[in-house]
Amino acid sequence: MNFSFENTKIAFKHKSNFELVKSYLIFKSFDFLILVKYGIKIINFALTIKLPIKWIIKKSIFSQFCGGENISECDITSQKLINSNIYTILDYSVEGEGNEIDFNRNFNELKAVILNSKENSKCPIAVFKCSGIGDFSMLEKRSFNIRNSINNVDSTEYINFKNRFYFLCKIANESGIKLYIDAEESWIQPAIDEITYEHMLLFNKKKCVLYNTIQLYRTNRLEEIQFQINNAKRNSYYLGFKLVRGAYLEKERKRANYLNIESPIQPSKDATDFEFDNAVKLCFDNRNFVNICLGTHNEKSTEYLINLLEINKISKNDDRFWFAQLFGMSDHISYNLAFAGFNVAKYLPYGPIKDVLPYLYRRAQENSSVKGQSSREISLIKCELKRRKSRKN
Ligand SMILES: Cc1cc2nc3c(=O)[nH]c(=O)nc-3n(C[C@H](O)[C@H](O)[C@H](O)COP(=O)(O)OP(=O)(O)OC[C@H]3O[C@@H](n4cnc5c(N)ncnc54)[C@H](O)[C@@H]3O)c2cc1C
Repeated sequence: MNFSFENTKIAFKHKSNFELVKSYLIFKSFDFLILVKYGIKIINFALTIKLPIKWIIKKSIFSQFCGGENISECDITSQKLINSNIYTILDYSVEGEGNEIDFNRNFNELKAVILNSKENSKCPIAVFKCSGIGDFSMLEKRSFNIRNSINNVDSTEYINFKNRFYFLCKIANESGIKLYIDAEESWIQPAIDEITYEHMLLFNKKKCVLYNTIQLYRTNRLEEIQFQINNAKRNSYYLGFKLVRGAYLEKERKRANYLNIESPIQPSKDATDFEFDNAVKLCFDNRNFVNICLGTHNEKSTEYLINLLEINKISKNDDRFWFAQLFGMSDHISYNLAFAGFNVAKYLPYGPIKDVLPYLYRRAQENSSVKGQSSREISLIKCELKRRKSRKN
């Protein structure tokens, strides 16, 4: 394979020395567990009592992981990304109280994202979480019924949720953009799967508009993908899958333990990795009607798909294959992939600073020394700073 993630000149071309040092310090700060544990809570408190710290947050951790406080503020970042052939997936990252007012606000914001994407070739993909437009416990109840083959009665809450879901698909379809549905906790996922595949049947007949997300840290996902492939073949529609490992590992295990039920999660990281690559292969082998996006920061899995494309002489920018990373993370993957000509997008979270703090907290946790993701970022930044210093261009 003629491809490397190690080219830090390409990976950090968009960052000045100052910005690199800033990123270094942010990732380094995640080594201090006390800071990770209490830092965001302290910021939240300081913002609540209106201490004038907003600008510091905006210039530091917020600008590392978020595009702005609203759609138009994200435009500067999207422009920078597209200058390096990286597309933007605007991700409204505000977590509300979970009432109808929040669901309608989120729905209106998502409509605005999709309509903005229609006018904006930098953003060909939109994304949302079902729990952002529908009640969590309603999704949980419906999922329970699906799992236990109990007939579902459509409650008013479900009808409202379904209407919002339908309209978002409809305007994405009319706007010519792809729509990713994020995967969530396993106990609400059956309801998310149900509504997503129902709408694929409606909107994915001619092209792949709608993508469901498959979490490969869950058991039995290959069987699920194969089942959906058979169904899509029978009913002649395209399947779209965003393949991810999964973000709720600890929550899932804790719940299974608490309820004394079998854990829905793979027994080890190796097993998840194995399942992820098998899922990539299964989708790849059915590429005539399965489109995929690899939502991962894992270099090996990324290489795995690159190899499959290369061996089978499939063009790097074939629209059936996309890669996606989160803004502020794994630039060495995104920028090197885009430079080589692959389809790459970054999730670009946005929202008022105080409202995206839970998102920032999760990024800090994910990058903390316990999970160890920041060490790769730190070593690459150090390598680039060294390269610049030695002027070996
Ligand atoms: C663009 C994008 C979109 C995403 N969308 C979603 C989404 O819709 N839903 C969602 O849940 N997540 C989503 N994620 C997050 C994703 O699921 C992972 O949590 C995150 O990307 C880390 O996994 P990785 O493949 O990048 O890398 P890696 O660092 O190789 O893998 C870490 C992951 O491996 C798994 N893992 C770790 N330890 C174990 C273990 N002991 N046993 C079993 N599995 C283990 C966990 O899933 C963990 O997150 C998304 C990520 C990206 C980049």
